[in-house]
Amino acid sequence: MSLSKTSFIKGLQCHKYVYLYKHHSKFRDWLSPEKLSKFKRGTDIGYYAQQFFPGGIDLKPKSHYHYKKALELTAFHVEQKTPVIYEASFMYNDVLIFLDILTYKDGHWYAYEVKSSLEISETYLNDAALQYYVLSGTGIPVRDMSLIYMNEKYTRKGEVDVFGLFSIQSVLDDVLSRQQMISSEVIKQKEILANESIPEREVGVHCYTPYDCDFLGYCWKKYRHTNSILNVEFLGIEKRFDLLEKGFETIEQLNKNAELDGIVSLRIQCLFDKKDYIDKPVLEAYLNKVGVKSCYIDVLGFKSAFPLVENASPYNFFPFSVTVVPVNEINNTTHYYYTHVAGTHVPFIEFLNQIALQYDSIITYDKLFLLNALRNINHNEASVLLNNKSFTDKLIGIKEVFNDGLFISSKINGTFDFENVLTELNLKNTFKKKDINNIYEATAVFMDNYAVDNKQIMQDAMQSLLSYSSDNIRYLDRLISFLKKKI
Ligand code: SF4
Repeated sequence: MSLSKTSFIKGLQCHKYVYLYKHHSKFRDWLSPEKLSKFKRGTDIGYYAQQFFPGGIDLKPKSHYHYKKALELTAFHVEQKTPVIYEASFMYNDVLIFLDILTYKDGHWYAYEVKSSLEISETYLNDAALQYYVLSGTGIPVRDMSLIYMNEKYTRKGEVDVFGLFSIQSVLDDVLSRQQMISSEVIKQKEILANESIPEREVGVHCYTPYDCDFLGYCWKKYRHTNSILNVEFLGIEKRFDLLEKGFETIEQLNKNAELDGIVSLRIQCLFDKKDYIDKPVLEAYLNKVGVKSCYIDVLGFKSAFPLVENASPYNFFPFSVTVVPVNEINNTTHYYYTHVAGTHVPFIEFLNQIALQYDSIITYDKLFLLNALRNINHNEASVLLNNKSFTDKLIGIKEVFNDGLFISSKINGTFDFENVLTELNLKNTFKKKDINNIYEATAVFMDNYAVDNKQIMQDAMQSLLSYSSDNIRYLDRLISFLKKKI
């Protein structure tokens, strides 16, 4: 059975993973919106990096099923010594790869892989080492192998300069030093794939490292709805396995463990006793900050690999929509959204300044998200706003109620993300599917429409974003009412 670069990297993470991926794809989890958006990001950045070596021929097959034709075409262009080839495909020892960029210059071949991240990781080096293994196996004498990745020091000034946006680093020495390991791992993975049965492998930290496995639902299901400590997600993955190694297998055993710090111990006790804990006076004082002159705010944005505006660097936060609703006038919505005409972050910051002038307190779910977003914006106006105490002191983050243990629910064993808290407290109607159901879909709607010339299409898109944020605000309002009833 053949391997691809993707399956090989999964196999390096866990042999059971590559086996399930190749033989039992029906057990795979639904692709999370987050994973889907990462795939898209990789493709988009790859396109920009091609401009480093312009005028190349793109041999990307329509789908993986057309790989034979792609192999033939690549062989033809290698024979012709075509100077620049994008997505060249090669197969050696039943391992199929697609190389992002292959160039021919002064009698030598040079190979490049593009990564949409700010640094070179172990996985990327293994990935490049596999590419080199296949290239050299098919008889392509690659003179150098390099990774192209995002340059975090780059700041956009006017049009994006691809030569500044990316860094190129040769990884040839590293890749050569991994050839022995790659060769034996290819043999091992092929042997495993030839087996009749699924390999044995217990769950562990490796299920999330370096990537979240696609079969978490399948392998972890035996722990769901049990009192195993592996279910207690708020402990974090490493802590859970650390405790398991020390002999703590159940919530009951953990409840007697004195090593956990105060608030974690209290959370475990709540899970064990199936009783909530409420720090009534502190919770009441906290919720009293939500007054008549308060507003709710919902900010939509993402860390954009590509610097979309002036002064932005790769992975700076890019806010594209802000919805504000007065606490006592839930239908009186103000909506800011980014338009490509703006070209800077200034209108967003000015909008926040105005909100701070209008209201006594600004209620959001994750205050830290908003503050970090502002810290991440490379603009003087953002720093001024962050130093303006009449803005920062007004920000109230309801997530702190859960983080600081003012209310500990016996139902929450997961993270304190908004979605998770709403779901575990049964405050969300999960049956109704909307146009936009999460921040990744919201980002996709924005990216697909913000620069279109058709005003109506753009307005419809912005209306969908507003509707998504208005729902978030309604849920936040519902969460606060729920908490108030607990006082
Ligand atoms: S969930 Fe964990 S054990 Fe199961 S296949 Fe994935 S990495 Fe391997």
